[in-house]
Amino acid sequence: MNLSVKIFIALVLSVIVGLLAGAPAVPFIKWWIAPIGTIFINLIKMMIVPVVFTSLIVGVTSLGDTKKLGRIGIKTIGLYLVTTAIAILIGFAVAGVIHPGLGLNMTATSEVNVKQAPSIMQVLVAMVPANPVASMAKSDILPTIVFALFIGVGIIQVGGSRAKTLIGFFDAAAEVCYKVIGMIMAISPIGVFCLLLPVVAENGPSVLLPLLAVIACMAVGCTIHAVGVYSTLARIWGGHSPIAFFKGMSEAMLIAFSTCSSSGTLPVNLKNTQEKLGVSREVASFVLPLGATVNMDGTAVYMGICSLFIANVFGIDLTVGQMGMIVLTGTLASIGTAGVPGAGLIMLAMVLESVGLPLEGLGLVAGIDRILDMFRTCLNITGDAAVACVINETEKKYAAHAQ
Ligand code: ASP
Repeated sequence: MNLSVKIFIALVLSVIVGLLAGAPAVPFIKWWIAPIGTIFINLIKMMIVPVVFTSLIVGVTSLGDTKKLGRIGIKTIGLYLVTTAIAILIGFAVAGVIHPGLGLNMTATSEVNVKQAPSIMQVLVAMVPANPVASMAKSDILPTIVFALFIGVGIIQVGGSRAKTLIGFFDAAAEVCYKVIGMIMAISPIGVFCLLLPVVAENGPSVLLPLLAVIACMAVGCTIHAVGVYSTLARIWGGHSPIAFFKGMSEAMLIAFSTCSSSGTLPVNLKNTQEKLGVSREVASFVLPLGATVNMDGTAVYMGICSLFIANVFGIDLTVGQMGMIVLTGTLASIGTAGVPGAGLIMLAMVLESVGLPLEGLGLVAGIDRILDMFRTCLNITGDAAVACVINETEKKYAAHAQ
């Protein structure tokens, strides 16, 4: 049986067992089952920094020249921005049709601690590590990426036999990382079961029902974006039929769904795109780590849906200008969103504030945020892979043309 089928069975089983066990079993599940899920997440997290650092250096050095790096960089970031803006519009469209929250007069279900969202300049400053080792120790991916890029470019500039020694070293180290990730993935069905069971048992159907419309909007919005945008990208520029693309991505998508972390899914995503979708290591190891931290289409769909939902709940009509503002701040906010569970909720505050929507609405969304996070993270990492396929194919064509 292939791994993604096993993971899927684990997912279904966790829902069935969680619903049957219900609230009375929550203490037992939290004490005995949830820690196993945490161990699984820790195992994956353990590999994030080593795999990002080594594979990015391998990626940059195998590009061979900095001009190619610049070309790929511009294409990647351009595609990331466009797909993110489309995602917010899809969020608006879906929420505009389903009208979640209309007539609903609920009060906040749980407390949210609204942190101040960082400005774009703060994001830029935070990207450059003053102490790369400290960034790695804290698993700060963006500064780690920047550091690895510099080291990679440095190695290219040194050239010759000394560079070769280092390239060989990092190449072997990256290979070891992939092997270890393979080992961790072998136990992923157990990990997924233990991660999801507490969520299902705790939330149960009664908590979910009133907010079902928002969850439905997320499911529909993410599906439309995946099928509409990613299928098109994969088919027209990515060299894959949509079915082949999604099949190749299934393991990573299921891991994203259960871990709610783009960064956590990165090792699996790197493995899937190279082994199943044939993306070259140089492209995957540049495009995916960047995407896991700056490209969040699922989070963008969520911003679109939640801002309309909150407007509906509080009986506010959004103007076209306000919607434009949401697209703009939503795109920036999704770039600044860390690829960790729950980060999107904090960034939603920035979007709501930008158009003067009541922040109390966050409390409403917080109650079901874990469920929404599953959908958005799944879309987040799929978007990175779709862009990786496009860059891979266009670079192949460019190379063929240049010859
Ligand atoms: N959990 C998401 C991710 O890691 C980020 C978010 O909360 O929107 O991709």
